[in-house]
Amino acid sequence: MLASAAATKEGRRRRAGRCGRTGDQVGRVVVVGAGVTGMTCAVRLAQEGHRVDVLARDYPLETTSVVAAALWYPYKALPQDRVTAWAGESFLAFAELASGPNRATGVRMISGTEVHHQRTPDPWWAGVVPDLEHSAPPQGYADAWSFTAPVIDMPIYLAWLRDRLDELGGTLTRMSLPALPQTHDVVVNCAGLGSRRLADDEGLRPVRGQVVLVNGVDVDRWWLDATGPTYVVPREHEVVVGGTDEDGDWSRTPSPGTATAILHRAARLVPELAGAKVIGHRVGLRPVRSSVRLEAEGRVVHCYGQGGAGVTLSWGCANEVVRLVDKISWAVEERGWPQAPAGSTSTTLASSLAPASVAAFLFAWPAALSHEPVLRVSTALDSARSTWLRWRRRVTGGVKLLLTYASFG
Ligand SMILES: Cc1cc2nc3c(=O)[nH]c(=O)nc-3n(C[C@H](O)[C@H](O)[C@H](O)COP(=O)(O)OP(=O)(O)OC[C@H]3O[C@@H](n4cnc5c(N)ncnc54)[C@H](O)[C@@H]3O)c2cc1C
Repeated sequence: MLASAAATKEGRRRRAGRCGRTGDQVGRVVVVGAGVTGMTCAVRLAQEGHRVDVLARDYPLETTSVVAAALWYPYKALPQDRVTAWAGESFLAFAELASGPNRATGVRMISGTEVHHQRTPDPWWAGVVPDLEHSAPPQGYADAWSFTAPVIDMPIYLAWLRDRLDELGGTLTRMSLPALPQTHDVVVNCAGLGSRRLADDEGLRPVRGQVVLVNGVDVDRWWLDATGPTYVVPREHEVVVGGTDEDGDWSRTPSPGTATAILHRAARLVPELAGAKVIGHRVGLRPVRSSVRLEAEGRVVHCYGQGGAGVTLSWGCANEVVRLVDKISWAVEERGWPQAPAGSTSTTLASSLAPASVAAFLFAWPAALSHEPVLRVSTALDSARSTWLRWRRRVTGGVKLLLTYASFG
């Protein structure tokens, strides 16, 4: 699904289209933000044949996203039903990346354990995790869940996303925007905390997270204790040890006292950490709000406020953004089509029409129609060649138009 050959072919076609073809009807989309949310949306949109330009104040390796631990885990993100669906789609996408031949993605499936100080029912998102089970808790805890989850090495993964966007013909430009772009293009707002200003959203707030990077220790499972929170997440060459969740704190400077406390808590959970060598400190500000904002507002699609789960929700949110952008682009394009003359009867075909019957219909009817709609239908078919998904929809739209004229005639 993600790095499929079809999508790669599509990217080549997009680049070729920019150099030579004119009259390309696939719209341009401006994505604001180059964290995991913006980059994933950009890649998915480019895979679907959109021309994508990302504008961002910070490049991917300078964002909050690069600080993430990043364990697949729905944390500080609501509402539960949408978050579960997005997290489930992302789980599958990451599992596919982890099982592929390309290690440069930085994604691995790793088993681990979440511990609890009291008996705890299954989490609300348990349905999307295939192997979640209660397990014997370590000493000092009353309950534990074990499951296999995607773990994403963010510096590697964000670089991979950037390469994917490049392969697909998208661009990334550094730009600090005072407001969302005023443009005829569709704009996707993935500015994370920047949406406080860009979307005038006072309900968005930072929840500060500090982590310590260590190495020289053999940890091959992840561990999580929600109190603290305390977590230990192994990467290929280092281990991320966290953490904190300081509501409303804007400071991005690591605190030495906090780092000591984090290491102390983590060593109680994973005693091997006592001999670890500290190699770095990182701080990020999670973009938290009462619920993730993923909705269209005119030609803007807002996608921000993923809180402590931006990585966990990234592919699911991006899929929904693609659907919303397609809806907007299609509505805008359809507006430019000729209107059926007054008095004509509009006939709507089922959108599930099989491509073969659509083709047969198109061959059978042109003779009965005037020049104009036939021309329009062939234009629709031409642009429809750009992607398979669009092909089907445009053909159906073309047939609808034909029928309108046919019934008028
Ligand atoms: C310590 C820590 C641990 C975490 N662990 C996990 C984890 O294990 N799993 C998980 O899923 N999540 C985790 N998270 C949460 C995750 O990091 C965030 O949810 C995610 O990074 C949000 O991504 P984003 O792309 O929406 O925002 P960001 O990464 O903040 O990106 C925002 C982008 O918008 C741009 N921007 C903002 N304002 C403007 C402007 N005015 N003009 C132009 N560009 C602008 C920025 O420059 C940036 O490019 C963790 C976070 C922290 C801090």
